Amino acid sequence: MKIDCIFCKIINKEINSDIIFEDEKTIVFKDIYPKAPVHWLIVPKKHIETHMEITEEDQELMGHLHIITQKVAKKNSINNYKLIMNCGYEAGQRVFHIHLHLLSGKILGEV
Ligand code: AMP
Ligand code: ZN
Repeated sequence: MKIDCIFCKIINKEINSDIIFEDEKTIVFKDIYPKAPVHWLIVPKKHIETHMEITEEDQELMGHLHIITQKVAKKNSINNYKLIMNCGYEAGQRVFHIHLHLLSGKILGEV
């Protein structure tokens, strides 16, 4: 938990979000500025700032993130999707708490 992190605040329910799924390690919620008909964010509850900061300790958590992504997609009949992770500011990352973007349908603009 990092106090000035917007996703940590969403995880702690200090900020509202449209939650699709949640378990002890993960939360999935709708992107507030959707770039596709389906645009969700899959977020580990552990505060990890960037992809470059993932460690061996996080291996299981990262695998879990993908399993949850797959399950949530399947449960919502999303059978074709794109996963994006922006890794670093110059790559487009603006929220420094790692997350996967799940997009389905026609993509409008840059993610
Ligand atoms: P990135 O640029 O990869 O760091 O993605 C951050 C994403 O978080 C953007 O697509 C934003 O639209 C989204 N976002 C920012 N604030 C919120 C929020 N309060 N609730 C939901 N999504 C958000
Ligand atoms: Zn955070």
